[in-house]
Amino acid sequence: MYTIDIIAKTLDAKAHITNSKAIIKNLLTDSRRIVFPATSLFFALQSSRRDGFTFIDDVYHQGVVNFVVTHLPEASKYPAANFLIVKDTLEALQQLAAWHRSHFHYPVIGITGSNGKTIVKEWLYQLLSPEYNIIRSPRSYNSQIGVPLSVWQMNSQHNLAIFEAGISKPEEMEKLQPIIQPTIGILTNIGEAHQEGFKNVEQKVKEKLRLFTNVQTLFCNRDNEVVQENLSSLSIPQIQNWSLLHDADLVIQKIEKQPQQTLITALYQQSQNIRITIPFTDDAAVENAITCWNVCLYFQLSHSIIAERMARLQPVDMRLQLLKAANGCSLINDSYSFDINSFNIALDFLLQQHQYPSKTVILSDFAITTDDSHYHQIADVLAIKKINRVITIGENWYRLQDILKDKIRRTTHFASMQSFLGQLHTSQFRNEAILLKGARKFAFERIVAQLEDKVHSTIMEINLTALAHNLKAYQQHLQPGTKLMAMIKAGGYGSGSAEVANVLQYHKVDYLAVAYADEGVELRKAGISLPILVLNVDEAAFEAIVDNNLEPELFSFNILQAFIHYLSRQGIQQYPVHIKVDTGMHRLGFEEKDIPELIAVLTNTKSIAVKSVFTHLAASEAEEEDTFTQQQYNIFDRCSNRLQKALKYNFIRHIANSAAIFRHPAIQLDMVRLGIGLYGVDSANEHQLQLQTVCTLKTTIAQLRWIKAGDTVGYNRRGKATKDELIATLRIGYADGVSRRLSNGVGSVWIKGKPAPIIGNVCMDMLMVVATGIEGVQEGDEAEIFGKNIPVQLVAQQCGTISYEILTGISQRVKRIYIEE
Ligand SMILES: *Cc1c(COP(=O)(O)O)cnc(C)c1O
Repeated sequence: MYTIDIIAKTLDAKAHITNSKAIIKNLLTDSRRIVFPATSLFFALQSSRRDGFTFIDDVYHQGVVNFVVTHLPEASKYPAANFLIVKDTLEALQQLAAWHRSHFHYPVIGITGSNGKTIVKEWLYQLLSPEYNIIRSPRSYNSQIGVPLSVWQMNSQHNLAIFEAGISKPEEMEKLQPIIQPTIGILTNIGEAHQEGFKNVEQKVKEKLRLFTNVQTLFCNRDNEVVQENLSSLSIPQIQNWSLLHDADLVIQKIEKQPQQTLITALYQQSQNIRITIPFTDDAAVENAITCWNVCLYFQLSHSIIAERMARLQPVDMRLQLLKAANGCSLINDSYSFDINSFNIALDFLLQQHQYPSKTVILSDFAITTDDSHYHQIADVLAIKKINRVITIGENWYRLQDILKDKIRRTTHFASMQSFLGQLHTSQFRNEAILLKGARKFAFERIVAQLEDKVHSTIMEINLTALAHNLKAYQQHLQPGTKLMAMIKAGGYGSGSAEVANVLQYHKVDYLAVAYADEGVELRKAGISLPILVLNVDEAAFEAIVDNNLEPELFSFNILQAFIHYLSRQGIQQYPVHIKVDTGMHRLGFEEKDIPELIAVLTNTKSIAVKSVFTHLAASEAEEEDTFTQQQYNIFDRCSNRLQKALKYNFIRHIANSAAIFRHPAIQLDMVRLGIGLYGVDSANEHQLQLQTVCTLKTTIAQLRWIKAGDTVGYNRRGKATKDELIATLRIGYADGVSRRLSNGVGSVWIKGKPAPIIGNVCMDMLMVVATGIEGVQEGDEAEIFGKNIPVQLVAQQCGTISYEILTGISQRVKRIYIEE
């Protein structure tokens, strides 16, 4: 905690100060994440899409009075505010964090690498926290902004820090190194991941190694040649490495995989024969565990303590899951760790669930003993965020229950998990969103087990973080000022509308579009306040449209006249509508020859106001149709110009869908309509956008059996085994939306890192695959139908259709699960 004038001095900032004694405790870069306005310092960061400066007004009105900016806004509008003026706000954030860091003299571990950073960080936390009071990066906060925010959390109560550093292009690490100033370095696996920003592996390695410029000790794997070649120039005093092939401090002699665990035997410092068992079997886990082992040995934990803790390592799932719970509730399970930072992140996700007016938080005590001020802080946040109901578990909250009682409408307190579980019943919760936030030792998964709707093990997992990423990927291709309409027709291309709309609203898209009025009504019920265009309108829907403030697409004289008639009977004026022009798709819309009559109608009524005029491209993804696309644009341009001349007010003009945003940037006009691209499918198919997979369809193995050569599988005996085969029966079939065209080897699923071809005909609720040769496969194991490993585009191709049909064809009976990373 520092005063604003100390910070001004540190940043060497020109200052406009109204209160020099203002105390700063929190750093803020996102206007949506304000928790303690009075003690927050807002950095108006600039990115290619967004200028933080434009949020000052909003942030000030939420109570924030301290700002770091590049130029002074109209200060008279903000009489209570302090402004620090700097050249570059991101640099200032980093500089402030670096200065804060330099106050502490306990060991700081800096982790980098291509893969495994977060797992190694979290496992070290699990392994070392009995001895150390550790501050670590929340989740995977390892970016140019995440690192300074993480380091800012250091205080004198800690005695060990663990931070991760991630980079995606050259010259980023030299910014992160002075912020973290690690005294101990860890290099995890260097792979091909995130290669895009670099010329080659060598450049990437060199850049990553810069983190270790001043470390005393470095932990790494000796077997990577490129790393070895580049290490010597750093002159690190002590390198403690491990190896599978060479002499090293920790020589791995044997890795024995068993069905549920892996035994690892090693020779330490050429004299000690040691071994651990970890409850994982995948190669990445083995490598990450070895890295952690090497570090624990350095910290001089005894072999027996290391072995004991390794055997109890917990999987690291830093994702937030939105699970369906009994009585129409949703459950956000974040019971992996409990600290202020991750609490704020989880709370933010809870508050995005507008579809539930009532929000409940179930909290445990902190894992470590802290002074009461942390409990007061949490209580303040819960009150500020207007949480309706809070349930606490643990003796500290029990003792401090009055601080919550004063602030929250409904509170209940339990001294222990036992007393809470003893009385827990699903009937205590109804139509609410519930956040479970507890320290690991409280084992909140026991609450999840009781409240969660038992899911049929076939699920469609929707990754909301990937969706937001894809949104940004397209936004980066927009001309400045171009608005964005997100298409969530057909239940968000099969991924669910309200949940997807919440994310889009949070990320401030300008418009939503749905296919039918009902879908729009659902979104309004879920608390979505963005303008919503309804594409497919008939007279029966007028009332729902007007009652819910939805905006119809008008595409013919019939529907136009009927709507005007409806509005005038209701006495409604200037109702927002959208005019659709048919320029060659020949689906819906006014034609060019209709324009004079359309103008006559529009200029003759006060009932409606044209918000936008638009058309839809028939083949924006196809190069061979580019002349046709251009012709569609020309027709649209003529029609919309004539309308613009006749209507004396401005409207929005839009034409581009996902493929056109990228392939025809010149026709982005005032707004674009982004559909399939949001859901991770690059319809332009040019692989220039780094889209992430949003939808994963998966199920589990119901049964495994060996069959003999010559045996057949499934209906009509269509699947014949040419040799002895292991057959897995999966809990999914064509009634779930898996096409029968994938039968008989056309399609494959993904099990334990390998493709398993479908054998025989796909049945209604089940299908069979060949699992021969998949190491360690067991009944109950997961199988991916499409997702990261089996792209939905591939499945579409195998079925002779397009990704749109596959995604929207997944049956409603398949549960959707939403995750945020
Ligand atoms: C579906 C749709 C879009 C979005 O198309 P994508 O190819 O999914 O981006 C845009 N405009 C209209 C009118 C649509 O119906």
